Order: sequence, then structure tokens, then C-alpha cells
Amino acid sequence: MTSNAKIVRQTTTLLSRKVKEAKTIAISGHTNPDGDCVGACLGLYTYIRDQYPGKQVDILLEPISKKFQFLKYAENIKQEKNIEETYDLYFSLDCSDTERLSQFQEIFAEAKYKICIDHHVSNTGFGDLTCVVPEASSTCEILFDLFDEKRISFDCAQCLYLGLVHDTGVFKHSNTTRHVMEIAGILIEKGVRPEFIIDETFYKKTYLQNQILGRALMESILLLEGRIIFSVLRNKDVITYGIQSEDLDGVIDQLRVTEGVECALLLFEKEEGVFKVSMRSNGGVDVSKIAQNFGGGGHVKAAGCTAQGNARDIINNISQLVEGQLEQ
Ligand code: AMP
Ligand code: MN
Ligand code: MN
Repeated sequence: MTSNAKIVRQTTTLLSRKVKEAKTIAISGHTNPDGDCVGACLGLYTYIRDQYPGKQVDILLEPISKKFQFLKYAENIKQEKNIEETYDLYFSLDCSDTERLSQFQEIFAEAKYKICIDHHVSNTGFGDLTCVVPEASSTCEILFDLFDEKRISFDCAQCLYLGLVHDTGVFKHSNTTRHVMEIAGILIEKGVRPEFIIDETFYKKTYLQNQILGRALMESILLLEGRIIFSVLRNKDVITYGIQSEDLDGVIDQLRVTEGVECALLLFEKEEGVFKVSMRSNGGVDVSKIAQNFGGGGHVKAAGCTAQGNARDIINNISQLVEGQLEQ
């Protein structure tokens, strides 16, 4: 048995025991919840509701994008704790460190038993039970392996499928394994309609999103003889157009596929002087290492961090690290 299969098996046993014992359960994921994070939180919530009725289960998560709101129980996501006392059991999903739990860090810290399920390489493990599988495409893939396949309902299947689609870039990134495709097949058999989930949540763009994409590409700059590309969205434009970070979905991917580019960077100035930095690599650079230098994290080919200061300096600092790796 591989060590990952062992971790998953041990977690499965303990997870069902802990859920049975708990009266109150909370589930959280990372700040700026993406498809995998939302899918994992709602998928686990749905599974627990289906399998263990009568529990008080809360999803504490930042408000989710409109495009994910078709998922069952999406309206149950909230930002306030529902109970007076501390939670018996708390799940942290798709979240590489406790800081990324943002406003829910303290409630998580107070919980009687904490389970961390994640696939980020940068996750060193936290909580009482850690199930980190960096080889997994997504947290939803790990959840599928933890669940009893026969007991996955259609509503739960939609959530898990969403996570697979988003973290594999629609079954295209190098994390798309045979296992991912087999899981996707099983979820389709449960009634998931791929074209609906993929178009509604991945490809469909608002007019504003397309305008932002056009502008980010138009104003992008090449460095290091075209091996780095970057684009910056300034706070004044963010305010003028009412841009939110979810409006940038797909922008960094389009920058990355520019011919000759090894590494793409997108800076989104969410507040004056505070940048959300997205990094993507085509394989020659490990961007998770670079992001970790700035207190962020992620995966080899997709990572991010928050950086303060001036965009030029941030780009210079990052590009030096990229150059350092490319020279090795
Ligand atoms: P993004 O560019 O926001 O799509 O993020 C790409 C990847 O990097 C995701 O897997 C995130 O989990 C990770 N990531 C982004 N921002 C941070 C951060 N500030 N700290 C840790 N990981 C991050
Ligand atoms: Mn995520
Ligand atoms: Mn993920």
C-alpha cells in the first residue's frame, strides 16, 4: 500500500468515528474560496448531512462566487458562528495554513478536535488529524477517496466534480491522472452533467471579466527575453470598475500560454499598496518556492502570495528568484 493510501485509510476510519461522536461540526476553507474549496466544503457538508442526520453542521466560509450558488446548500454558507460553545469537530479544507482560514482562525483554534484535509505541497500539517496528499489533484479528490462511493449522492457528486474541474483546469493540468478521470466518470454516473458545470463555472465570463482580460493582456510586459510575463491591475481601476478577485479567473492562464513564457505573474492591487500575486509556471520553475519566500504558498505550477509595497519592486524581487531557478 502506498503511504498516501495508508493516510487516506487511517483518516477514513478516524473521520467517521469523530463525526459520529461530534454533536457540533464546522467546516471551513481558504480565503477567496475557489472551485475546489467551495466544492470540498459543500461536498463534505452534504455527505455528513446525508450520512449522519441530526448533527449541527455549519459551513464558515467567505461569501462564494455567484457561479457556485447552484450547488445544494450554498445558501447555508455563513460568516457567523451559529452556536455559543466551541465546536466539537472542525474541518479545515483545501487550506495550506491556518492564516488562510482568515476570519475563522480563532474559532478553528478553539475547536475540541481539528481535522486538516488538503493537497498543497506547502502544507506542513496542522490540527489533531492531518490528511495532506500533495499528489492529489484537488481536495475534492481526497474527499472522494475518504467517502464511501456508494453513499455519494447526486448533490455531493456535483460538489466533488466542481473541485476536480477547477483544480485540473478542466482535466488538462499535469495533475489530471487516471484516478482523476475514473472519479470523474463515477460522478458522471451519479448524474453530474459536465457541460453544465464546466460552462457555467469555468468558461462563462461577464462582460466586465472579458474587458479586464483584454486590458491585462494589452498591458502585459515581457521580461528576461520573454521567459517571464507580468501584468498589474491597479487599485484605481479596481475601484473604478468594481473589480473583484474572482473577476480575474482565467487571466493568469491566458498570460501563461504566451509562447516562450516560463512564468506568468499577475498583480491585483486589492488595496492601495497591497497586492494579491498570482504565479503560474510551465514547469521550468517551482512557483510554490517563490511564493513561500513572500509568505505565500501553493503548488509547483500554481502559487500565490500577498505582497506589500510598490509593484515594480515586487516584480523585480520575484523575477530575480525566477531567474535564479532558471539558471540552475
Ligand atoms: P491563485 O493564483 O489565487 O489562483 O492561487 C494559486 C494557488 O496558490 C492556489 O492553490 C492557492 O491555494 C495558492 N495561494 C494563493 N495565494 C496564497 C497565499 N497568500 N498563501 C498561500 N497560498 C496561496
Ligand atoms: Mn483552492
Ligand atoms: Mn485545491
